[in-house]
Amino acid sequence: MAIRKIIRGEDPILRKKSRPVEKFDDRLSQLLDDMIQTMRAANGCGLAAVQVGVLRRVCVVDAGDGVLELVNPQIIAKEGTQREQEGCLSFPGESGVALRPAMVKLRAQNRHGQWCFYKAEALKARAFCHECDHLDGVTVKERWLKKT
Ligand code: ZN
Repeated sequence: MAIRKIIRGEDPILRKKSRPVEKFDDRLSQLLDDMIQTMRAANGCGLAAVQVGVLRRVCVVDAGDGVLELVNPQIIAKEGTQREQEGCLSFPGESGVALRPAMVKLRAQNRHGQWCFYKAEALKARAFCHECDHLDGVTVKERWLKKT
């Protein structure tokens, strides 16, 4: 396992769309292990592969109740709204208020390619939306209603 460098600021790679994962191999496991270690070292609650320079649809989320590995994640349902402060490991020291669904349902593959289903509210719902945005090249900066 290794801590990878988090891409920060206005690097154009953060605007690029990530490609689906097709191979569930050792390289993917290595990437996931490194991303978990990198997220923990940075005290984050989510990290997308693009933030470590890998344009694949992979992210990790830890909303305080354990790490989730999300490969090829898709939000399949959302309900309600929440308006909370939201930052990003790629924009340290900055934060703003973003509008997100109150509840989301998501499906994603694990490192072995099996599909798993998740339902999330509060911080975890925000993290799911935030990380899925990264995979489409959208950063939280575009979601901020106002900076705080
Ligand atoms: Zn982020």
